[in-house]
Amino acid sequence: MIQEIATKIDMVSNEIIDEYFEDHMRIFESDNEKKREFYKTISIKQKRWSKQQTCIVEGCSEKSIKRSHTIQKSGPIASVSRNSLVYVPEQDYKTGQLVIKSKGINEASTFPGFCSEHEKIFSSFEEDKNLFSEEAITLQLYRTVCRELFRLSVEQEMFQKQMEEYISFRDSKFLLMTKERLTEKWLKENDVNLTSISFREDSLLKALEKNIQEIAETYNVIESQHLAQLTEAIKNNNEKSLNASVVNVDTLIPVAMSGFGAFHVTEDRRVLVFIGVYPNVEKNETCIVLFSSSEDKDYFNAYMNQFTNILDLLNIVERFMVRGTDHWFIHPQLWDDMSEQKKQTILSETIIRGKGIDFPLDYSIFDELRSEIIEYAEAVELPLEEQNKLASEKEKLNKAFKSDS
Ligand SMILES: [Zn+2]
Repeated sequence: MIQEIATKIDMVSNEIIDEYFEDHMRIFESDNEKKREFYKTISIKQKRWSKQQTCIVEGCSEKSIKRSHTIQKSGPIASVSRNSLVYVPEQDYKTGQLVIKSKGINEASTFPGFCSEHEKIFSSFEEDKNLFSEEAITLQLYRTVCRELFRLSVEQEMFQKQMEEYISFRDSKFLLMTKERLTEKWLKENDVNLTSISFREDSLLKALEKNIQEIAETYNVIESQHLAQLTEAIKNNNEKSLNASVVNVDTLIPVAMSGFGAFHVTEDRRVLVFIGVYPNVEKNETCIVLFSSSEDKDYFNAYMNQFTNILDLLNIVERFMVRGTDHWFIHPQLWDDMSEQKKQTILSETIIRGKGIDFPLDYSIFDELRSEIIEYAEAVELPLEEQNKLASEKEKLNKAFKSDS
């Protein structure tokens, strides 16, 4: 008799598990329940960003201040602001969608990174809007790398928590569904008190586990290569040893940015490239810094060699915005002037990030600037190769977006 009961329970629960494997979403009663379950842990992220942590400098045990700026407020952030506000993409924790939010320049680009003592390292260039010495650029890169390490550690924690919460949600749903299918009557008649059911390997969790593992690997590479090389350069005052490239362009690109993107050279070999974009409205220029580890020197140089003129640089910046990092601040006017479809395309591509920074965009983000540069370039006689480039740049301006009118 007992054997019969066990067999029946097994049969019913296996039936439900098979159905679940056919369609993981079956255990959600509604779209809203699904969204709630998947995105409730995003609030962990928000809490961590606003809470003090231990200072990120190695060996320091002091508490961090709540808001270290990654990109300086006074120069780059102010340069892309309107009435002391900038626009920044942020994940909505109710829907998981990336949306554009308006932020005050005091809150923009901050993280709980350094204690008040170590924060002083940056004060030499913090207040200076113009100066970009080699030393200042190295410190700026150091700060960028520290912020990314912090971001990755928060993300890892978030996904871990998401996985745990999902498992407990899933298992309680399974228990409920099994009981329902066995019926209350049957459970009572056979005096069965079902408290848990065992589970086989779940492919949905496999994807989450893979995600967590990838974050951990990226963290380790950045810590052992990029952070180590920057720390060494700062200690020994040898900025020249870094695998970095600094370009000043004499026009204002209306976005401030810091973060990293990646491209694959083989299936298992990924090259990380850090970027900083620092516009200066007063001088009408933009400083673009790119940095890679010395291990990736040849790949980095080959990547950089594709870019020869200002349109190429504009393309790098746009590519990083969509395929690299969502840590960018755009001038509100520029964003407000864009069509809804274009905004949606940028935001959805940014969150999915299916392609690496070696894939060009087929549309333009900075239309006005691109038109000006094209116009200027057309006025001078260009070699054929450059002319062809111009034609494709013009196409980007004319790209039609879905249901755009
Ligand atoms: Zn410290």
